Amino acid sequence: MPVIRKLPEVLINQIAAGEVVERPASVLKELLENSIDAGSQSIEVQLTQGGIKQLRISDDGCGIDKDQLALALERHATSKISSLEDLEAVGTMGFRGEALAAIASVARTRITSRARDASHAWRVSEREREPMPAALNGGTVVEVEDLYYNTPARRKFLKSDATEYGHCDDVFRRIALAKPEVGLQISHNGRVNMRLAAGDAERRTREILGDDFMAQARPLLAESGLLRLSGYVSLPAYARSNRDAQYFYVNGRFVRDKLIQHALREAYADILHGSRHPAFVLFLDLDPAGVDVNVHPAKTEVRFREGRAIHQFVFHAVTRTLATPVQAAVSAAPP
Ligand code: ADP
Ligand code: MG
Repeated sequence: MPVIRKLPEVLINQIAAGEVVERPASVLKELLENSIDAGSQSIEVQLTQGGIKQLRISDDGCGIDKDQLALALERHATSKISSLEDLEAVGTMGFRGEALAAIASVARTRITSRARDASHAWRVSEREREPMPAALNGGTVVEVEDLYYNTPARRKFLKSDATEYGHCDDVFRRIALAKPEVGLQISHNGRVNMRLAAGDAERRTREILGDDFMAQARPLLAESGLLRLSGYVSLPAYARSNRDAQYFYVNGRFVRDKLIQHALREAYADILHGSRHPAFVLFLDLDPAGVDVNVHPAKTEVRFREGRAIHQFVFHAVTRTLATPVQAAVSAAPP
């Protein structure tokens, strides 16, 4: 007869890591989201060898108390929700309490943190869960080294440093666009690749998508009840041969959603040839109760309660913005 056994904790975490930690970029996403949830105003990312050798994220957020540090590495441990009602109104990027546990099960992981009222910092690692005194002025530093050192089968699926860095850069841009009020910097192998000062949405969009995009984009703002859509959509002249410059966010979360993609395709259907793709940065905000973000651990999929209404709203807002004559748009702009 087959014997049923409870899996050991570390194996449970490694299995979960298969969903959450696909590559260095997924680690970066989780750590950046944690820094943002901690209320950071400035975040620095340092990557070595595409993030495979090391990812180091330092922030100036609220920090973690000494007696909470070891818990942060445990599965199903979170400071962000405590009830089903919280889950339905979740306002933070994280809430599952499994990212750090998953990361620590497949990479050497160190967290150094200093809570606001602490006299000094403390450090834990995947092996040493008892906090040790450490030096840090404030905030949190998370260091993740040698991704998949203990799971060689997964390590084989990692691509070249350049490819992995490219994915990290995508993640960095997605988060940077959504958080213009946060200063961000990313470096690779000791070289600073992007330094973004805290600013407003227009400046951040220009920094990430470039002057050419801004010159051929229309600002968009639409509101209906609790629905709000804002951002920029490109005019047909700026069309691309790929979908790289398409950024859509739901309540601050970058998503790839079939319904939304369909609404945008329809809005551009009459003005863009099928093989050309528009560029856009759009933020959809709605009552958190109207959207389920708990569809997949990576949280890039969402489920809308009123899918049809959302589709209509996005389609009409984009169509209307693109149909506004250029003259009117120019004369409406401040001198
Ligand atoms: P989640 O983000 O879903 O809560 P994580 O495993 O990513 O789960 O993090 C666990 C907990 O560790 C968080 O709920 C938070 O309290 C704490 N934490 C993680 N990173 C940071 C950080 N950079 N600053 C402050 N607290 C953090
Ligand atoms: Mg998290």
